[in-house]
Amino acid sequence: MSSTRKFAVIFGTIVSLFCSSTFATPHSVKWCAHWYTKFIDSGYGEDTFNAGQNTFEYSPAKYAKAKLRIAGLPYHWEGNLDSDGCTPLLSTEGNTDYQFHIWYTRFRGGRAIHVNADEFAPDTAYKGLTVTTGNMLSDGGTVNVTYSHWHERTNMAQLAGLALGYPTSRYWPGQSVTYISTQANPACGTGRGTNTVDNKICINTDYVATSGTHYNHGLYKFVIAHEMGHAQSNAVRGPGGNTSPTYQLVLNETTNEHPCNCVATSEGSGTIPEMCFRMRADILSAEREGWANFWSAALLNERSSSNGYMAIWNKTYVMQNGSAEWETVTPIAYNMLSREKYMEAECDPEDASGDPADNVGILSDWSQFFWELWTKTSDRFDMNMISPIWLANYQEYDDTNEYGHWDTLLETVEQLYASNYEIHFEDTGDLTGVNH
Ligand SMILES: [Zn+2]
Repeated sequence: MSSTRKFAVIFGTIVSLFCSSTFATPHSVKWCAHWYTKFIDSGYGEDTFNAGQNTFEYSPAKYAKAKLRIAGLPYHWEGNLDSDGCTPLLSTEGNTDYQFHIWYTRFRGGRAIHVNADEFAPDTAYKGLTVTTGNMLSDGGTVNVTYSHWHERTNMAQLAGLALGYPTSRYWPGQSVTYISTQANPACGTGRGTNTVDNKICINTDYVATSGTHYNHGLYKFVIAHEMGHAQSNAVRGPGGNTSPTYQLVLNETTNEHPCNCVATSEGSGTIPEMCFRMRADILSAEREGWANFWSAALLNERSSSNGYMAIWNKTYVMQNGSAEWETVTPIAYNMLSREKYMEAECDPEDASGDPADNVGILSDWSQFFWELWTKTSDRFDMNMISPIWLANYQEYDDTNEYGHWDTLLETVEQLYASNYEIHFEDTGDLTGVNH
């Protein structure tokens, strides 16, 4: 080989090395996706999602299913994003068109929440974006993918990510799939959300969208989480279990105003009773709806908070100068530690026969009960301790028609847990007024 040819080979190798390190060598980077969300919030005090800021913001696509490929080629990665909405480190070329696909399906371990997905074709609900990587990629770096289009599903997906992000303390059950969809009224039913069998939830877009005329839409973060609370309860047979979602009004005053009842109003396709926070309802409805309220508060507040806030909605009786006035209220921050004992203070504690009314309850009282049961620092109950109480209570007392009554719950707690928990349960019932 002549010296000239040797030089050419060496030069060619140098050029090749130079080119590959600058333009061709892939780098190991994370891909991180963000949704566009807007949780209208007038400052209800919840700890999550920038309470009080009615602004759009980009939030991490936590636990979303995603796929990545160079445009036109087969996918070279697919999996679930992590708690920051990111892939693992992936070998990525610079100056290349990639397609990043993301689904409204959230996975963590065996737990999954499909948002607005057809249960028979869940893979059809996704968004894809083409992203051109720059020439400044470096190992350990990040490629950001932002989905700028807002949709009510985006908000629901954010809450689904939160639910999956609290695997133990909020107790979204393992090995379960929950379907949540948004539908326009009346396909979804006339209410905010309709629980059907097998943990499918339909949430009325009237209550979760940022447009429309229904109420003031300041509620929907709470509403979505409330319906998810029902799904959680159904899946683990917690308070209220998988019973009818229909409120059972106890006071037969659907047209008259009363501090413990709700006035029927005509909305959507039919006449429905308003769901009132302080409505006297049959005991299982009070516990089930109280649980859904509580679970919503648990999702949106830190357990260690000294207070927990949630939005109180619709209509309520407001106590002013010693008399109750019926008002449609702007959502206000409701402190879960307010201990109103509304049943005891404002409602007839006796049933029609004059006996103590152990078959009825007030939603707000039960919301507070669950909150205090879960948050007190000493001998507090975890979610996975609360659910078995209602499950065992059902098995034990089904034939006596006393399921959910205070005395039977206490007996069940006594059978399941040590005396210190029993004392905590009983004391909390006393403090919140559900012990009747
Ligand atoms: Zn409900």
